[in-house]
Amino acid sequence: MAVPSYEAPTHQDTAYQTALEQFDRAAYYVDAPADYLEILKYPARELTANFPVRRDDGTIEMFTGYRVHHNITLGPTKGGIRYAADVTLDEVRALAMWMTWKCALVQLPFGGAKGGVVVDPKTLSLAENERLTRRYTAEMVKMFSEHADIPAPDMGTNAQTMAWIMDTYSMNVGHSVPAIVTGKPLNLGGSEGRTEATGRGVIIAMEEALKRIDRYDPTNTKVVIQGFGNVGSHAALIASELGYNVVAVSDISGGVYNPNGLDIKKLFDFCFHGGQLKDYKDSSLDHVTNRELLTLPCDVLAPSALQSQVTPEVAPYVKANLIVEGANGPTTPDADDILNDRNILVVPDILANAGGVIVSYFEWVQGLQSYFWDLDEINRRLARIMTKSYDNVQVIAEENKITLRTAAQVAAISRVVKALMTRGIYP
Ligand code: GLU
Repeated sequence: MAVPSYEAPTHQDTAYQTALEQFDRAAYYVDAPADYLEILKYPARELTANFPVRRDDGTIEMFTGYRVHHNITLGPTKGGIRYAADVTLDEVRALAMWMTWKCALVQLPFGGAKGGVVVDPKTLSLAENERLTRRYTAEMVKMFSEHADIPAPDMGTNAQTMAWIMDTYSMNVGHSVPAIVTGKPLNLGGSEGRTEATGRGVIIAMEEALKRIDRYDPTNTKVVIQGFGNVGSHAALIASELGYNVVAVSDISGGVYNPNGLDIKKLFDFCFHGGQLKDYKDSSLDHVTNRELLTLPCDVLAPSALQSQVTPEVAPYVKANLIVEGANGPTTPDADDILNDRNILVVPDILANAGGVIVSYFEWVQGLQSYFWDLDEINRRLARIMTKSYDNVQVIAEENKITLRTAAQVAAISRVVKALMTRGIYP
């Protein structure tokens, strides 16, 4: 039975379409009644808000924001907020669903959610960004709660955004509620290691994969990373610190490539101070487009920017033999099939980029207890969860002769559907 949110979208490869197709592929292997599985295809609730924000010049402009709770079976919903000019409800739905699977896969007591505001944050002054964030928070005050729905950063948002959300929420309820968001600044109860956690997790997943395919040899491994935001830049830094040869990285403006390896620290500092990679001058490297970057000669490709990047047009030309998904949904299902036929191993997003939400969980727990852990403890626990989750996925993949993506989704969907059956259907 179809409802509007589940009807096939009219255009191809929307993120939600990808999420549903992945779900159907995995649900086939999940031992649960079809009507229970059907429940998990639907977002539980969605809120769209249209709201005014005053620009610095005094004019008023309307903005649209979303928050989608996909599923609350395992606990409060968790997921980031994305600020992007082209973000849609469809995309936020897909991202919320992926958060449900991601949290379930790594055994966090959370359901999935996601938020978005249709705005290019680069077009906002700091003061406009603050007013927009505070107004969005006020519109979403009924969706957020430290016990029901805990936002975090995603594309276009950061620790400062979380500080404004935390402050706005706290002002509304009349007392400080640090556990309302994760990814906060350290001086407001943020966690050690949260900023780099997603990138760190991507590299842990990459190393696990390389060991399992018998190719663990950092100095002889060429890595290409698409995206130089919070995920890609930290993944690149950590990889280069571990001795990997990072040969190409890109941001929204384009990529830089040197087959002998890049100085990631220099590029990181350049971008940290507001530079765009297209403007980076160094005669030893070539500038490439984001599309060209995906098919450069390398051993590992880590798409860590946007969804729907590795498509059937790109997949036949990928040269890496391992793809580690730092982004959410970077590979479309048709491209997955091509990569699988070509024996290219894909470590799926819900496993590879789970480091961020894992450390978000640590931050939430620390906040609720007002007791804080040191960086060693955080990184040790993060590595343990990543490795254990990888093991679990690998076993399911081997048992059923399925891809790591389908295996990860089987593990996640099974966990959620079993909990749902135990809870029962209300009333
Ligand atoms: N936005 C991140 C993700 O996609 C982190 C979510 C969180 O920490 O709640 O996983």
